Amino acid sequence: MRDNHAGGPARVLAVANQKGGVGKTTTAINLGTALAAVGEKVLIVDLDPQGNASTGLGVPREARRVTIYDVVVDQRPVSEAVVPTAVPGLHILPADPDMSGVEIELSSAERRSYRLRDALARNAEDAGASSGVTGYDYVLIDCPPSLNLLTVNAMAAADAVLVPLQCEFFALEGLTQLMRTVELVRSSLNPRLEIQGVVLTMYDRRNSLSAQVAADVRAHFGDKVYEAVIPRNVRVSEAPSHGKPALIYDLKCAGSQAYLKLAREVVAAERRRRAALAA
Ligand code: ADP
Ligand code: MG
Repeated sequence: MRDNHAGGPARVLAVANQKGGVGKTTTAINLGTALAAVGEKVLIVDLDPQGNASTGLGVPREARRVTIYDVVVDQRPVSEAVVPTAVPGLHILPADPDMSGVEIELSSAERRSYRLRDALARNAEDAGASSGVTGYDYVLIDCPPSLNLLTVNAMAAADAVLVPLQCEFFALEGLTQLMRTVELVRSSLNPRLEIQGVVLTMYDRRNSLSAQVAADVRAHFGDKVYEAVIPRNVRVSEAPSHGKPALIYDLKCAGSQAYLKLAREVVAAERRRRAALAA
């Protein structure tokens, strides 16, 4: 197996959780930036019609002429939609707040669950590859806050699901529901779908509930839970309004450092996976 940077197919990760406000978009942006910072080539696919990832990365509206909507609904080539960001090595396939009708349009489309997967496959074909997404080490799909057809498209296109989990009451119940959906997608649409990992977000060390939830999640999901824990950090929440990832806005803050640690864990796990495949 060819090693990456980015000669081989990308590792495609769906950043998913049906709950809103748990840190999906923040994780897609900052994990993407941290991966790029350690030398990986990264594409963020903004699959949420709210377009928060695109806005948070400072993509101006006029740079969103071709969006994920055009790609999944009208089969426009991925390459026409992708734009660079201010972060070297980090590209984004943007969304636009105008695309709120995408879910309805998709529901009557042919191969409606595979629209994103087919689009990524066409992109690889155009690049002359036999399989996988080319030109990137990682593709991070920022999912909307529901288990709708868009999220199903993400899971059908992904190699694995990365779950940001907010340390709050009922977190485990939500996670169980998400795991059932992953099972369902695996048995019907995408048999190779794996769980990449669970990352605890908005951890508040002054709140005993945070520690309790973290302990419960680790007890249930063991080594699927990353060691890196993202703290609740005001710099992380301020960054998007400046159109910047937290890592660019304030590299030294605890949130940025936690995302760097997460990126190193993700890269290490990917190396181990590739080594196991090659053996
Ligand atoms: P989702 O994409 O799951 O809906 P977001 O990533 O948009 O969630 O996060 C929801 C809100 O919480 C946003 O306002 C974001 O800035 C804030 N937020 C996310 N992570 C953190 C963090 N580690 N510390 C402080 N605020 C955060
Ligand atoms: Mg979001």
